[in-house]
Amino acid sequence: MAAWEENVRKVVPYTPGEQPEHLDIIKLNTNENPYPPAPKVAEILKNMDAEILRRYPDPAASELVQALAERYKVPREQVFVGVGSDDVLAMSFLTFFSGGKPIFFPDITYSFYDVWADLFRIPYECQPLDEQFQIRTTDYLGDCGGIVIPNPNAPTGIEKDLLELEQIIAANPGVIVIIDEAYIDFGGESALKLVPKYDNLLVVQTFSKSRSLAGMRIGYAFGDEKLIKYLNDAKYSFNSYTMDTVTIAMGAASLRDEVYFRETIGKVTATREWTKKELARLGFVFPDSKSNFIFASHPKCPAKELFEALKEQGIYVRYFDKPRIDQYLRISIGTDLEMQTLIQFLEQYLGENV
Ligand code: PMP
Repeated sequence: MAAWEENVRKVVPYTPGEQPEHLDIIKLNTNENPYPPAPKVAEILKNMDAEILRRYPDPAASELVQALAERYKVPREQVFVGVGSDDVLAMSFLTFFSGGKPIFFPDITYSFYDVWADLFRIPYECQPLDEQFQIRTTDYLGDCGGIVIPNPNAPTGIEKDLLELEQIIAANPGVIVIIDEAYIDFGGESALKLVPKYDNLLVVQTFSKSRSLAGMRIGYAFGDEKLIKYLNDAKYSFNSYTMDTVTIAMGAASLRDEVYFRETIGKVTATREWTKKELARLGFVFPDSKSNFIFASHPKCPAKELFEALKEQGIYVRYFDKPRIDQYLRISIGTDLEMQTLIQFLEQYLGENV
């Protein structure tokens, strides 16, 4: 090891799902939306004049913040935006979890949480999900430095009852509770309505899933004014121009197309329900998903084997080689045709191999 390496901040990075180069695959591995973004987004892109890029973007991303405030009926002072919810979450970890006490999050959850905690030297304790992969409310009522709960949880897709989440938020007035709602639009009940009641609550959402804009990188959070101010202080101490001019305009355009948004969500959730029935018919077991993916296991066929067979066939799903979940596949919801192709292949494969 070189002498200078002792002074390096060493981290084990998050591993994102594979983004294959060829396009002729059925890509069900990163929970993207199979439908294009709202037509209003494409219009902005087409009519954009490169001249505007000469200037720095608006550091406050006001157009986007205003559009979010209107769409969700909250004061703009209660809205924070960032480069995907990953950026919003990372900034929140940095801002709110500096007390030195361990923060709590589930043992099976979004695998970026422990990476940020390690990066920022935040101690953490993972609370085990129960046998049914449920988050146990009682695990989150003790003394801690903060709490992060995704709702619905990933990769399980399970929604936690809002009343129980409220119990956790109310029991922890001394720390910030982050509810990560990356998948909330696919059928869950948002904690946004609790924001006026609890000044320790931060609700984080994203344009990546329900708004088909993963490639644009837009995330946002709602919280008490004071909390948002602290987040902005941290942001402006790190990089004032996190969001670019094009992204700000497209995010605002997406919010102006409510009908399209509802239609797309309706299609994805209908396909999800169809896929659940088909997977059950083939003998798969899975917790009930309120997200745009299904976390499924087949009692007679190892998940890793299925993952590889699917990949060979050009169908990419996500497999986590981790304790407790290594018999599961996380399957994102694609178009009807993509899911039919998946089911046909699984039916044939299981028929021949188990
Ligand atoms: N939270 C959860 C639970 C997720 O699964 C993801 C997607 N990987 C994110 C946050 C981050 O999404 P994005 O940065 O694209 O908004």
